[in-house]
Amino acid sequence: MQVFYDKDSFSKYIDLQKEQNNMIGFAPTMGALHAGHISLYEEANKDNDIVISSIFVNPTQFNNAEDLEKYPRTVENDIEKLQNSKLVDAVYIPKVEDIYPNGMERKHYNFGGIENEMEGAARPGHFDGVGTVVEELFRQVRPDNAYFGEKDFQQLKIIEKLVDILNLGIKIHGVKIHREKNGLAMSSRNMRLSEAEKESSSVIYQTLKKVDDWFRVVTIPEIKSRVEEIFDRDDMVLEYFLIANEDTLKEADFFSEDENYRAFIVVNVDQVRLIDNMHLK
Ligand code: AMP
Repeated sequence: MQVFYDKDSFSKYIDLQKEQNNMIGFAPTMGALHAGHISLYEEANKDNDIVISSIFVNPTQFNNAEDLEKYPRTVENDIEKLQNSKLVDAVYIPKVEDIYPNGMERKHYNFGGIENEMEGAARPGHFDGVGTVVEELFRQVRPDNAYFGEKDFQQLKIIEKLVDILNLGIKIHGVKIHREKNGLAMSSRNMRLSEAEKESSSVIYQTLKKVDDWFRVVTIPEIKSRVEEIFDRDDMVLEYFLIANEDTLKEADFFSEDENYRAFIVVNVDQVRLIDNMHLK
């Protein structure tokens, strides 16, 4: 596996891949890698000649300076994990200037309204920051296929829209949420939880499964009040729970037979922000 720490050497590598007509699969990350990230590279290996990872903690997608500062950074470990996985041909670890040569500015995008729902409402500017870094990475990596986790389902929809509005010709693949044995969605932020907190956080997944059982049996307002009751506890704070239309991401108060729905939840455990979601049958 090759490791590139700057844009120039990485561009030369990409030029070579393009000359050889190699199909490129790409999944960007912010590091602190876990088995959920690795599952993206497993998927990428199915459809591509070359699989590329990137590690870059993108400052413009954080709307909270403390969250950015506390974000785990474990680059040496990450390189070793990627190497051991044998699933990745090259990892790009750019410097801030490689991504933001003209200063750290967010671009502004119109994603058709989905950027204002859920995470967009909770974290102003977040999706402009995500769009800015992913657009730049796509222009540098020039992948044929790119892989994003359903764990960040709204982000996956935003990236599909980004490729569409910029006409980038990249196929976006969504990858299922990879979970701990107890159901907790794997996340780099889980590193900041104690073992006891990781165990009790399985209630997030247990709740989503209950919601799936209740869906189409009881009303959505009743489901919401049951979820609020479950999280009426001192060791975690429910930031939001809602059921949304899977395409528009708009919150649903009732369901129609011919639409798809997904439950979305954000819970704070000792100031660690945990997000999860589940498609509802
Ligand atoms: P991050 O490093 O958190 O920015 O995540 C990089 C990519 O990995 C994103 O596409 C995430 O959605 C994906 N990802 C993170 N956690 C998981 C998980 N538990 N299962 C599947 N994909 C994930």
